[in-house]
Amino acid sequence: MSKEIPYKIYLEEHEMPKQWYNVRADMKNKPAPLLNPGTKQPMTLEELEHVFCTELAKQELDDTTPYIDIPEEILNFYKMYRPSPLVRAYCLEKKLGTPAKIYYKFEGNNTSGSHKLNSAIAQAYYAKKQGLKGVTTETGAGQWGTALSMACSYFDLDCKVYMVKCSYEQKPFRREVMRTYGASVTPSPSMETEVGKKILLEHPGTTGSLGCAISEAVEAATTTEGYRYVLGSVLSQVLLHQTVIGLETKIAMDKYDIKPDIIIGCAGGGSNLGGLISPFVGEKLRGENDYQIIAVEPASCPSLTRGKYAYDFCDTGKVCPLAKMYTLGSGFIPSANHAGGLRYHGMSSVLSQLYDDGYMEARSVGQTAVFAAAEQFARVEGILPAPESSHAIKVAIDEALKCKETGEEKTILFGLTGTGYFDMYAYENFHNGTMSDYIPTDEDLKPGFDSLPKMD
Ligand SMILES: *Cc1c(COP(=O)(O)O)cnc(C)c1O
Repeated sequence: MSKEIPYKIYLEEHEMPKQWYNVRADMKNKPAPLLNPGTKQPMTLEELEHVFCTELAKQELDDTTPYIDIPEEILNFYKMYRPSPLVRAYCLEKKLGTPAKIYYKFEGNNTSGSHKLNSAIAQAYYAKKQGLKGVTTETGAGQWGTALSMACSYFDLDCKVYMVKCSYEQKPFRREVMRTYGASVTPSPSMETEVGKKILLEHPGTTGSLGCAISEAVEAATTTEGYRYVLGSVLSQVLLHQTVIGLETKIAMDKYDIKPDIIIGCAGGGSNLGGLISPFVGEKLRGENDYQIIAVEPASCPSLTRGKYAYDFCDTGKVCPLAKMYTLGSGFIPSANHAGGLRYHGMSSVLSQLYDDGYMEARSVGQTAVFAAAEQFARVEGILPAPESSHAIKVAIDEALKCKETGEEKTILFGLTGTGYFDMYAYENFHNGTMSDYIPTDEDLKPGFDSLPKMD
């Protein structure tokens, strides 16, 4: 007899994961190492320590330790807003008339409004433990900057955020939340850094990009005593911290003997998806179980579905290590898109390798269809989803409707990464029918591919 499944499956405090799971340990083909952009040799710990906190640099390089203890201070912080609920979307299933069973893991239940706090608190903790004065970072849509400012205020660290200029202007509320938590917020590109000055000289009037804000934040960290740079996605350390999402999900599902057939997540830099799927992919890699895994990205920024698997720069200023990833090239400029958190040109090297090895598939979806799914979801499940998260909702609904046609009772799990309260201009565009669905042509993608570094 299967147990009755409640609307929300919570974990008791003692059931919560006490270790992160490092999926790289179970990968036969390890993700390619970060390279020094000058020498093209793998980055050493000493080189990484110059930019990142020492403990985080070690995590970045660790391809072999499967489980890494979550320090007690981080566990205690997690207890304030975790476990996050795993919700059975009974209302959505009913509305769709599907025999599929739909579950979502909701990460929007904290003030920052997204999963990003899971890694922000870990990164702030290691910075504090190292005796640093502060950290610098970039933020695009603002979710990462918000999460990091919360984490830094908790550990009494300085937090300096370079915010992509167009977001700085369009999202004043996000900016003010960051300042409420004590962060200083600078619109990027700025005149505060050499790389910012250079970019402004070459492109006066630019409204900035994530790649450019990264360059400024790295420069500020490496030229200020007692500071390091922290990043909200893409890196393997971030993916590691986000595995708390997947581990909680797995424990909750195992409690009720639920096995997902399909696991879906939106992919920007890949951290939430990587975190959600890691424990499941681990089973897949070890040959214990099989799952269909789908990464969803915007058609306007299609790194997995149309990108190249190559070494690339992580930032516009080319100051960061080179990473091998599915990428559109650091010179790619996506068209205006409301899912700011999914506009990065590259993809986590862990996910890129898993995708290349066929452990995961990818789909790209158009913006209007994503917002239609978001609205459909909001109206029955109550939660107002972030545009990024709604990419996963869209494909979850597509899959549930396929089940309706075939009569299959598949179990679908998706990651609902956050809430969309700061995205109401995007919703307004959708309601007014003024949303653009521009998909780059091959010609549009060419300059990005031409910007890839020559590796010989
Ligand atoms: C940042 C963000 C994403 C995308 O980032 P990943 O690193 O790919 O997870 C998705 N959803 C929300 C709500 C975000 O803030």
